[in-house]
Amino acid sequence: MAETQIEWTDATWNPVAGCSIISAGCTNCYAMEMARRLDAMRVEKYQGLTRRSGKRTIWNGVVREDHAALVPTFHRT
Ligand code: SF4
Repeated sequence: MAETQIEWTDATWNPVAGCSIISAGCTNCYAMEMARRLDAMRVEKYQGLTRRSGKRTIWNGVVREDHAALVPTFHRT
């Protein structure tokens, strides 16, 4: 779990990376471009999850579990 600047939550948890485009609602998915940027930054979790399609970045269908994120952690509030 990580703290976030997202206004409607205090923390995010991403135990899975990657996806597949499933509908027209995915057209402007921010996560595809974010995954490409993290891949370029050599973040292992995001390596090889996207491909180029014209000028866009899209998921390539690979989905990867983040086993470290599945280990329970306890936070003080
Ligand atoms: S993460 Fe992006 S591509 Fe995957 S279902 Fe959500 S909007 Fe669609």
